[in-house]
Amino acid sequence: MKIRDILAEGKTTLSFEVFPPKTADNYRSVEEAALEIAKIGPAFMSVTYGAGGGTSQYTVQIASTIQKAARVTPLAHLTCVSSTRQRVKEILTELKENQIENVLALRGDIPEGGPLAHDYQYASQLIYDVKQAGDFCIGAACYPEGHVESANKTQDILHLKEKVEAGCDFVTTQMFFDNNILYNYLYRIREKGITVPVIAGIMPVTNVKQIHRICKMSGTYLPSRFKAIVDRFGDNPAAMKQAGIAYATEQIIDLIANGVNGIHVYSMNKPDVAARIKESLSQIVG
Ligand code: FAD
Repeated sequence: MKIRDILAEGKTTLSFEVFPPKTADNYRSVEEAALEIAKIGPAFMSVTYGAGGGTSQYTVQIASTIQKAARVTPLAHLTCVSSTRQRVKEILTELKENQIENVLALRGDIPEGGPLAHDYQYASQLIYDVKQAGDFCIGAACYPEGHVESANKTQDILHLKEKVEAGCDFVTTQMFFDNNILYNYLYRIREKGITVPVIAGIMPVTNVKQIHRICKMSGTYLPSRFKAIVDRFGDNPAAMKQAGIAYATEQIIDLIANGVNGIHVYSMNKPDVAARIKESLSQIVG
């Protein structure tokens, strides 16, 4: 099913993300984790794509398993920065052969030393090509705090508009830990005429290493309420996990209460985390 049709039903949706294995050795464990998460009954599940494209076949395989074995709608991520037009064509053909209808079209992070290929500069070019390639439902990334490379938030929103004009059907946000940042962003993008559904990306932070990595990579703002949790429970993995899940769940409840219907959880191949969030929302999300 196309995600745009799921979103058009107007119900609250809860979806989860998994990442593919880096090597064949880990394939089975990732597949098992994905199938466990699928049992929770998400609206859809996304499968990330290794930036260099080296693990692309696993993205397609895991997405296909989610669809065929678990009967959950998959969303396959696809990055373009180090890819050629020819390679993109091949992957889109594989997706079609596997009846995968949803693609999250991304640029990907530019590798140190520069991109491995130069066919694509921005995600909007990939969106255009995916649109031309067939009847895909296309998603894109957006950044409530602005993308790290963008000069300012206004420029970033104008570039988001280019992605929507190129043919994207919905956007999923980068993680954020203060809902007011999203509410302000929604106001700003709607003001610029971007009307596609926005799915809020929520990261349950379950260990301290994760939070250090997030801050280094994307400069995400951490509210003092969140920092206090990390300070108090950072050295106690079980407590940190419980508090991280509770924080993410509270964020989700506030978002839904304020009319944000699409919630995407960066569940990082952790079925227990996904299940605990779903359980805490059992009367809130159908
Ligand atoms: P773009 O939309 O191309 O934007 C990149 C930068 O270029 C921005 O600063 C933008 O403002 C600027 N820009 C865009 N168009 C123009 C223009 N015409 N002129 C000048 N500047 C312009 N990475 C992975 O490797 N694999 C994944 O599976 C993956 N999944 C993700 C899922 C989500 C929901 C999110 C939010 C991110 C994901 N990423 C993933 C990370 C993403 O690839 C990086 O954040 C990357 O740096 C930007 O990708 P983009 O698609 O947003 O790029």
